[in-house]
Parts: sequence; C-alpha cells; structure tokens
Amino acid sequence: MVETTVPRTLIEQEHQYLVQTYGRPDFVLVRGEGMTLYDDAGRAYADWVAGIAVNALGYNDAGVQAEIQAGLQNGLIHLSNLYHNAPMIELARVLVEKSFADRVFFANSGTEANEGALKFARRVAYNAGKPDKIEFITFDHGFHGRSMGSLSMTPKEKYQKPFKPLLPGVQVAEFNNIESVRALISDKTCAVMIEPIQGEGGIHEASAEFLRELRTLCDEHNTVLIFDEVQCGVGRTGALWAHEASGVTPDIMTVAKPLAAGLPIGAILVTQRIADNISAGDHGSTFAGGPLITRVAKYVVERISEPAFLAHVREVGEYLQERLSEINSPLITDIRGRGLMVGVEMSMDVSPVVKLGYEHGLLLVNAGPNVIRLVPPLIATKSDVDHLVAKLTIILESLS
Ligand SMILES: *Cc1c(COP(=O)(O)O)cnc(C)c1O
Repeated sequence: MVETTVPRTLIEQEHQYLVQTYGRPDFVLVRGEGMTLYDDAGRAYADWVAGIAVNALGYNDAGVQAEIQAGLQNGLIHLSNLYHNAPMIELARVLVEKSFADRVFFANSGTEANEGALKFARRVAYNAGKPDKIEFITFDHGFHGRSMGSLSMTPKEKYQKPFKPLLPGVQVAEFNNIESVRALISDKTCAVMIEPIQGEGGIHEASAEFLRELRTLCDEHNTVLIFDEVQCGVGRTGALWAHEASGVTPDIMTVAKPLAAGLPIGAILVTQRIADNISAGDHGSTFAGGPLITRVAKYVVERISEPAFLAHVREVGEYLQERLSEINSPLITDIRGRGLMVGVEMSMDVSPVVKLGYEHGLLLVNAGPNVIRLVPPLIATKSDVDHLVAKLTIILESLS
C-alpha cells in the first residue's frame, strides 16, 4: 500500500499498520528488569501481568539470559523434527520425571497444544473403532485458545459468534457441578477438557472433589481427561502443576505460557496409553521443540520446580491474599486463587482500575469484566505486594 500520510509517533504507526485486535495503552515499553518494566519516557511499571502469566522469571533474569547466550553458541536456533535434537529430548525427560506423564509432544503455543490434545483424543476413539465417539465437553467460563478447535472449546459468545461454524459436538457443562457433566457425558464423549484453575474466565478453582468425580466419570465412559494448565501450570500456584493439590491426574495435560520464560512454546504431556495410540505422521509442527527454546524451557522447569522456589510462590501468594483482604474497599467483592494466580473480584467493570493503574505505575489485567487478575512474575516479593496494595488502595479510594 502506498503511504499517504507520514505517521509521526510509534503509536500512530501502530494504529496505521497493525490489525486492530487489541486496545493498547498509550506508552511503549522498552526495557525490563526483575518485576519492573520501563516505557520510552523512563516511567517504571510494577508488572502484575507478566505477559499474561508468561514471564515467570521476570525480566533480564541472569539465568535465562545465560541459557539463551549459551544456546546460541553452536549456531542452532531451529532444527527440524525430522532430526534428533538434544535439548528437546532432555526437556521431555525432565517434564516426564516431574509429572504424571510418560511422553511429551511439543508445540508452539497454548492453543496449539490444545489442538493437539483434541486430535490425540479423537485418535484414541478412532483406534477403539468408535467412529461416533467424537464429542467434547468443556466448561462455562473456560478458555482454551483462539484457533478453531480451541475456540470451539471456549464457550464465550463474543469470541465464537463471528467465526461459526465451529467444531460440532462440543457440549458445555457447568464448572464445579458434577451433575451437569453427568447429564452430558456418554460413550460418544471422546474428551473432557478443563482448566484446574480457570484463568481468563475469572480465576475459578475446580474443587478437588469435582476433579475426582470428573476422573471417575471419564473412566466410566472411556473418555480422555485433558487438563489445560497453559496458565495455571509450571509453578504458578506454588506447586509445579495446579492439579497436584487434587491428587487427580489427567490423561493429557497441556502447558505453555511460562514454560520457556517468554519464548514461545507449548507442550502436550500424555500417558503411555495415549502415546500408544499416536503414530508417525498423525501430528506435527515445523517450529516446535527447537533446540534454543527447549534448552531455556529445561532451565525454567528445573529452576521453578526447586522446593525453595515453589515455597516462595506459596508464601508470597498467601501474603498477597492476606494484604489484599486488608484493603477496606466496598468495591472488592471477593479475593480468590492460589499461589501467584489471584483474582480480585469487584462490583464494577474493572477497566477504570486497569487504566488508573497505568497512571500509578502498575500493570494490571482483567479476567472477564469484573475481575482483576494478578499473575506477576513468580519472583515477586512481599515488598512488591506492599507496593501493589498501597497503589491499589489509592486507586480504589479514588473510584469509590
Ligand atoms: C492463554 C491460554 C490458552 C491459549 O494460549 P495461546 O498461547 O495464547 O494460544 C489456552 N488455555 C489457557 C488456559 C490459557 O490461559
């Protein structure tokens, strides 16, 4: 396209050149250190978003930087899944050793991991000679991604409506209501997909009892149980996996956001039974499992799974909920979550809180219209919590 006007600022260029799928605030972030981001005017922001639960080790982490530098020494950023690659194999081994899973398939994002999980579940039913076992169950307020399969599993009218028709045979059950699942599940259900803690949908935790009963129902119907830990997994809750607290294990778990501390990656962790149903050529990816990214991811998983690291997440997470509950604002109606995945529900649309946050040097993000979602780097400290609570108190006072 021929340019007719010369844009002056970067932000004006954003408005001109990017597909307008996001409404961004009017500053440009240029640098990060620890928990803090800086814009091009030198203003600091305490980051309670972490790239939406991605930047688990914050910014400019010495360990991550060193892994990237070391990973570049041999000249290999990308290989291909056509060839063996040592860091990918080592990451798979570490993930298997630290989870319920026996095998791993790598992808490049959360939605892609979920697409693969849905395909794997279909393949299991196909191999069992059940051509009509094609249905999926998902949950209200669930979020599984934006590609066609994952979007079909994300029952939000605003996200789905313009893109129909989606996958047929997707049924929506009520989160934490086992009777609603019992009413829908049948021998035609090939998989149930659930977030042990819903992120995007507003920080809702599945109860241990619900997950146990879900496991039983799935077993009764030969249905594959998929846990989507794209947001809640890898240390976010103070356990390496969010489902650990329930004692229930899935057949498939998807992981992504924090797995490589900011580099794009997804992973599908499966039991041997699932893996036995997948053959060469069933699924693939050009980029996935590259040596640089998987090297960094192995470092991230090993560091975050250290007992002291996870204890820190639990301690700061508990302190966060404690301090938040001391904010004496009538606008706050609930505080919930686990570890450093905390939702502050309010009696109002929270977008003014997010906007005022920018003015007070805070990055905040919503989860649904009336919940502030706090998913900071897992290195956040109690003094970061004190800073947040002080700012939030001022912001809420100005709004009430
Ligand atoms: C973010 C998210 C996804 C989608 O991940 P992308 O990397 O954005 O594709 C899927 N599931 C959950 C639970 C998520 O939070």
